Amino acid sequence: MELTRLRGFRDLVGADARAMSLVEERARALVERYSMKEIRIPVLERTQLYLRSTGETSDIVEKQMYTFTDRDEGETVVALRPEGTPGVVRAYIEAGFDRTEPQQRLFYSGAMFRRERPQKGRYRQFYQFGVEVFGRPDAACDAEILIMIDELCRDLKVPFTMEINSIGDQKCRPAFRDALVQWGRTHWDELCDDCHNRIDRNPLRLLDCKIDAKLAASAPNSLDYLCDECRAHFDTVKELASAGGVEYVVNPRMVRGLDYYTRTAFEVMAGGLGAQSTVVAGGRYDGLVETMGGAAVAGIGFAIGVDRMALALQAAGVAPTAAPDAAIIAMGPAATRHAIAVARNLREANLNVEMLSPERKMKTLLARASKIGARFAVIIGDDELARGVVQVRDLKQSTQREVAVAEAARAIADARGE
Ligand code: ATP
Ligand code: MG
Repeated sequence: MELTRLRGFRDLVGADARAMSLVEERARALVERYSMKEIRIPVLERTQLYLRSTGETSDIVEKQMYTFTDRDEGETVVALRPEGTPGVVRAYIEAGFDRTEPQQRLFYSGAMFRRERPQKGRYRQFYQFGVEVFGRPDAACDAEILIMIDELCRDLKVPFTMEINSIGDQKCRPAFRDALVQWGRTHWDELCDDCHNRIDRNPLRLLDCKIDAKLAASAPNSLDYLCDECRAHFDTVKELASAGGVEYVVNPRMVRGLDYYTRTAFEVMAGGLGAQSTVVAGGRYDGLVETMGGAAVAGIGFAIGVDRMALALQAAGVAPTAAPDAAIIAMGPAATRHAIAVARNLREANLNVEMLSPERKMKTLLARASKIGARFAVIIGDDELARGVVQVRDLKQSTQREVAVAEAARAIADARGE
């Protein structure tokens, strides 16, 4: 047996992992500014949960779930979570929030699992950072969600476009569905095999066809079928999102692949990602809590695809480097004792510092400092020790100056801010 990782599963080290963490950190700071509470939910749930919410005709349930029978739990069929929303809704209902405190603003973060064909930006284990707001059916809530996403993308400095649409509700969507079925039958010969299946099972997903996007451009458009209430809701969402500074594009043929969405749907695409360019996706799901056995409570949410957002940061050249500000070089045992204290001192001044192995030659150590990308080398020998100074060598400009120990942090921090 070869002990290699499974197909579609990744090891992330260094810069790749750092870019992912940065996305998560910025998202966390964002949700805190929006007064949201964290929720941590299990990775393993009953498979039934996803059948009921994600939907039996979704790609996820039809072919992507990692599902198995857990012998210890009375032969319960369980699944690794393919998305976060169903678990969050289950937890919300199980905590009784739908009856006691329906307005909840929640966020989660973690790994999701889908058995799909691995490619760039598409993995079998990937990470989502998601937000779910319950008990707010009003359009101002949708607008704030869009503003929030806009804020994050700007904060991360990735070039992006936001598409929004309304896919109607239980009242007006049936007519749109019927129109799609009709259209699909008229274009039967041009549709792919998947779409032939979709016509009866989930006609909205005809618009989701990855194989023939051009054909979908001639399909019926959801906005033509909205009832008065859905139209008014969508108009207010657009107006308020604009008031909040969001630049969006209305795409009346954008639908989401899952069953539970109603009204507002949206996607954010980032540049430099090729085919897998959607980095954030979500929408309103007003019937979901009730479908899953809770009270009739409105909901809206989205998930950031953390892996793809990290790739977008890297493509845009705005991903952070983990290079240290300074490498500490100590010559001899007495200097080492001092250097250890200096290193601590610099770190307490919030600098990224790596102390190099003292048992080597100066030339080797300077080469090592350059190799790890340190901007400065802080050199301490017996002579520096005696005089209470350090040599601060700028490895970029090849200059060196002597500063008092107490000044070292300031000298390095100043240069870093240049
Ligand atoms: P796609 O159309 O690309 O398959 P989706 O509609 O299945 O996306 P959602 O279920 O809405 O995606 O998930 C939200 C986001 O999570 C996506 O926009 C994407 O950024 C990310 N995502 C989904 N599946 C994967 C995956 N297999 N690998 C990496 N990221 C993913
Ligand atoms: Mg998918």
